[in-house]
Amino acid sequence: MVVLKTRKEIEKMRVAGAISAGALKAAGAAVEPGISTYEIDEIARKYILCHGGKPNFLHYNGFPATACISVNEVVIHGIPSRKQVLREGDIVSIDLGAEVDGYHGDNAATFACGRISDQAQKLIDTTRASLYEGLAKAVAGGRLGDIGSAIGTYCEERGYGVVRSFTGHGVGRALHEDPAVPNYGTPGHGVRLLPGMTLAIEPMITMGTHQVRILPDGWTTVTTDGKWAAHFEHTVAITADGACEILTLAED
Ligand code: MG
Repeated sequence: MVVLKTRKEIEKMRVAGAISAGALKAAGAAVEPGISTYEIDEIARKYILCHGGKPNFLHYNGFPATACISVNEVVIHGIPSRKQVLREGDIVSIDLGAEVDGYHGDNAATFACGRISDQAQKLIDTTRASLYEGLAKAVAGGRLGDIGSAIGTYCEERGYGVVRSFTGHGVGRALHEDPAVPNYGTPGHGVRLLPGMTLAIEPMITMGTHQVRILPDGWTTVTTDGKWAAHFEHTVAITADGACEILTLAED
């Protein structure tokens, strides 16, 4: 069931979203050769706690950290580790969120570790741009398929793989709510977009196949061909008048 939020609830999500965005920014700013993904996770955790939020990924279905940190061929759900030390040229996807007063934010971005290859930069740029293609279709009166189609078509036309076995989702009183928000679809099909819907839209895009598999730790999701992936995500609210509102914007 899709839960529509009131103006007051969206106000609370704006607060949770701002802390989520600030934590993502702080974590991303720490990405550099020599730092471990555990240390980055600590930065995110402390940021959220210091700003009055709760890390909402921590212990979610048993996930052991504040952030999912996914390096290179890891698409999503990488587990931060002291043993994983970043190297020049890596690309690092960080996905995290904060809960404040019962409402959730969720956002992600892929960061460059030092100098990265042109192909890796293009993957990152394309994935970020595809998120904004999707956001442009997140308007009242449209359909869920408009969003997925915009993202998927943009990436596939440029030769990238669009992960299908994981999707975006509704978000608000829970971290994951209905509806699922796929990164593919048919324009004019799917759930009707209504004012008060709050969605996490999150393209997961690869340089090769869209096929992924989960490692034996039960979380780490990698491309089956070992090619690299990028991931961008915003939490947004569908508004009554035109463009969606991005709720995961850092305060400055
Ligand atoms: Mg999400």
